[in-house]
Amino acid sequence: MTLDNERSLVREACVRVIAGSTHSSVLLHVPHSSAVIPDWVRERILLSDAQLEAEINRMRDSYTDSIAATAAEQAQIRPHLFLNELARQVIDPERFPDDREAMAKIGHGAVYLKTSQLTPLREDDPAHIAELLDRYFHPYARQMANEVETILEARGVVTVLDLHSFPREALPYEVSDGARPSICLGVDEFHTPPELIDAARGAFSDFDIAINTPFAGTYVPLKFYESDARVHGLMIEVRRDVPGTVPGLDAVCRAMTQLVDSIH
Ligand SMILES: [Zn+2]
Repeated sequence: MTLDNERSLVREACVRVIAGSTHSSVLLHVPHSSAVIPDWVRERILLSDAQLEAEINRMRDSYTDSIAATAAEQAQIRPHLFLNELARQVIDPERFPDDREAMAKIGHGAVYLKTSQLTPLREDDPAHIAELLDRYFHPYARQMANEVETILEARGVVTVLDLHSFPREALPYEVSDGARPSICLGVDEFHTPPELIDAARGAFSDFDIAINTPFAGTYVPLKFYESDARVHGLMIEVRRDVPGTVPGLDAVCRAMTQLVDSIH
């Protein structure tokens, strides 16, 4: 990535925040693109190096960091970027850290106990899980809430565009068995205004699109979830074979840029 203007590198939470224009109300969130697992976390993972590498490759959201970086560079008003610098096998910032998380039942809560193949990833050790949440999950959530707050103070409104990519074939851990379109838009009744869905449909009109299929909803920091309607959110999920085919990665980046440009 050729990103400059870096405001802060939050070592503790392993989050990278790159400030955009003070005139932008858009925050691009890239939660699942990293493959980095700290050594002390790696030591507790029950996979060989080859198994872990394969698991990371199955689960990481390839292309999302470059799509976000390109859209940020090409947008008329530069949006803010919020990047998770750690792999989702460390913590998944988009899951509830408690009993509210439905995926926890199958070992896919905020700290994964199972792989994408539903085989063991780590022991169910409450002390270790608490350590991971304290060291990475909660600081991440705090930093995200701070960024949203900062944009709200400056602009009075914020739109979190939550960027993911998903494999062509469903992985065993997925609960969805729906269609797998080129672009999935995840929307939330409270946080996704109809105009934002329309803007995304327009920007991605060269692709086949489905709403909340195969993945539903979008990420909004818990502090604002279903309580602050000034916080808008939309999830954009790109099927992972799409950037490698016609019209390809450039077209996805152009569509993301157009979407960012349509939000004020
Ligand atoms: Zn993802």
